[in-house]
Amino acid sequence: MKYLTLAEILEPCKGQGWAVGAYDTCNQEITQAIVNACAADQAPAIIMIYPHHTPQTEWPTLLRIIEAELERANIPAALVLDHAKTLDQIECALELGFSGVMIDASLAPLEQNIEITRQAVELAHARGASVEAELGHVGVGDEVTSEDQQAHLTRVDEAERFVKETGVDALAVSIGTLHGLYRGKPHLDFERLSQLRAVCPIPLVLHGGSDTPDQDLRRAIEIGIDKINIWTDIRIPYLQALKESLEGPIKKIEVHEVFETARAAAIEVIRKKNQLLGSVGRSAQYS
Ligand SMILES: [Zn+2]
Repeated sequence: MKYLTLAEILEPCKGQGWAVGAYDTCNQEITQAIVNACAADQAPAIIMIYPHHTPQTEWPTLLRIIEAELERANIPAALVLDHAKTLDQIECALELGFSGVMIDASLAPLEQNIEITRQAVELAHARGASVEAELGHVGVGDEVTSEDQQAHLTRVDEAERFVKETGVDALAVSIGTLHGLYRGKPHLDFERLSQLRAVCPIPLVLHGGSDTPDQDLRRAIEIGIDKINIWTDIRIPYLQALKESLEGPIKKIEVHEVFETARAAAIEVIRKKNQLLGSVGRSAQYS
């Protein structure tokens, strides 16, 4: 299985009005859902492992599942470590063959963020992998509202400097989205996104893509977002399907049927996202 690097998988959509869906997985069924959905759509897939969900000791097993599923799918794919906090996690991922890593030092002061990102870039580029970093900070919907984020939005002058000084391959920007579900309404700063697009020559990434209105995501893509991270919008229907299939007498429940139903729910939502992002039928652009 040959992965495209994060930079390679984002290259065809840069400035083209479509984006690649980046989907987190933590088990076999969600991996199958991502691969099956993207294969059916002939869409490129960025498959992500998030250390908070999957402990480092379990990455090799999950990687084998991902590779086995991709073997039969024939779609352009990148394997990315999502929200790494340490260089140790990054080294481990690179050793295992990840084709992209995200270093998240977004809560650290600017100089520190630049320094650790630069080190991550050095490690990853030596292995032929790409790096995504985050500047400004995308918070969590349970903890803050979109308005509270004002102080954490990405500053345009800092972004320009950050990209130049780190050599990073993709930049996650904070423009008002939040991770998880929103408490109020999201307010995206599209003017800021246009300015960021103008000063950053690399692909831009939107975290907190879940629970964000479709029209906001479309507008962000048209302005210049190239990768959109989705987890919660997969998690909720997946768990809802699991929950519903567990109702009734337990002796009548078959384990494989329960997971089949949950996987089908995840496939449905991922295919909708591919449609929304405009990645359907784009596999051909990678050959
Ligand atoms: Zn994120």
